Amino acid sequence: MADAERIPGFNTLAIHAGAKPDPTTGARATPIYQTTSFVFDDVDHAASLFGLQAFGNIYTRIGNPTNAVLEERVAALEGGTAGLAVASGHAAQVVVMQTLLMPGDEFVASKKLYGGSINQFNHAFKSFGWQVVWADPDDISSFEKAITPKTKAIFIESIANPGGVITDIEAVSKIARKAGVPLIVDNTLATPYLCKPFNYGADIIVHSLTKFLGGHGNSIGGMIVDGGTFNWSREGRYPMLSEPRPEYSGIVLHETFGNFAFAIACRVLGLRDLGPALSPFNAFLILTGIETLPLRMQRHSDNALAVAEWLSKRPEVAWVSYAGLPGDKYNALAKKYTPKGSGAVMTVGLKGGYDAGVKLVSNVQLFSHLANIGDTRSLIIHPASTTHKQLSDAQKVQAGAGPDVVRLSIGLEDKEDIIADLEQGLTAK
Ligand SMILES: *Cc1c(COP(=O)(O)O)cnc(C)c1O
Repeated sequence: MADAERIPGFNTLAIHAGAKPDPTTGARATPIYQTTSFVFDDVDHAASLFGLQAFGNIYTRIGNPTNAVLEERVAALEGGTAGLAVASGHAAQVVVMQTLLMPGDEFVASKKLYGGSINQFNHAFKSFGWQVVWADPDDISSFEKAITPKTKAIFIESIANPGGVITDIEAVSKIARKAGVPLIVDNTLATPYLCKPFNYGADIIVHSLTKFLGGHGNSIGGMIVDGGTFNWSREGRYPMLSEPRPEYSGIVLHETFGNFAFAIACRVLGLRDLGPALSPFNAFLILTGIETLPLRMQRHSDNALAVAEWLSKRPEVAWVSYAGLPGDKYNALAKKYTPKGSGAVMTVGLKGGYDAGVKLVSNVQLFSHLANIGDTRSLIIHPASTTHKQLSDAQKVQAGAGPDVVRLSIGLEDKEDIIADLEQGLTAK
């Protein structure tokens, strides 16, 4: 190459980062290394792998060559130092928190999050002794007020699922820095194509690969990306990283692995002991999806903006929450954090309330009525009659899932067809 210093662009990284032709067969696509375990060269090689003195493959619960390409790919796209692939987005959140928190510790989280994360934080994490303290992304000072000496992390979403809420990452990162805790950003809805949280002070990024990174509605997966920015040894607040590890002959992970120590800790402690390994087959499908990420995210965003503009003029529609819409409450933040577009997901309030929501999901034909986002296909759900049915009306409204609310994940079909389907769904008798 003429210019050895040249840093490849995003489109190039999406196709090539982490991947080389297979050294033994020449296979150009990354092979699916569908094996549980890997043969050692000799006893010394085995000992050095188990002692963390050498990098290499041991057992697919801890690492796998197909998954390694996916890890390098997403880390490169986010601009992080290392990645760790896990079995789901929720598994990524458990592994991150288990590396940071001890029983009795707290973390501060935005109260506008994916519903599954709100459940995980309120219930499963509570049973581990980790206390969530909720803050309001529309009032940044609430994050600062929620910090106590027990706080070990702050957790936000870049674009929040489902409401089209954009969080002011830079403002929250300043609060995290002052408190001496890492900022974790769930970048699932934006993907690194639309938003780069490390550029605004995030320390750790998590993903549900299930959504836009995989992008085709066929595989569950999760990813942790280490930004390499946080000082884990300060005041000994993160003992998994700053204390000697007895099972690895007393090594201190932060000392030994420096700016990718967090990703290593998540792998050799979290993934090893908790066990949510990603299948290499899913890694292969998600890698294939990522090759077209920039093309897909641009189309998702362009289609979604056209649909949001059309819906906002409809007589059946009371409001549209989509940060890309001029005049939307989050439009200024969207211009800063997601300048290329605001993604696929929006919520819509129908004047006809609960019955109108049921009618719309029952009458659409191109849209699929299901609980997912980030498919090539357009998706729709009426939370009040499905995911949030068990809540009281007041709780539904609080969760952004009032009786009148419908969530859309706009796919890659022709926008005219998407709009025509919504039109016949809204006007059906
Ligand atoms: C879906 C989702 C998750 C959970 O991911 P899974 O892969 O379903 O475990 C977490 N965060 C956001 C924003 C999501 O959309």
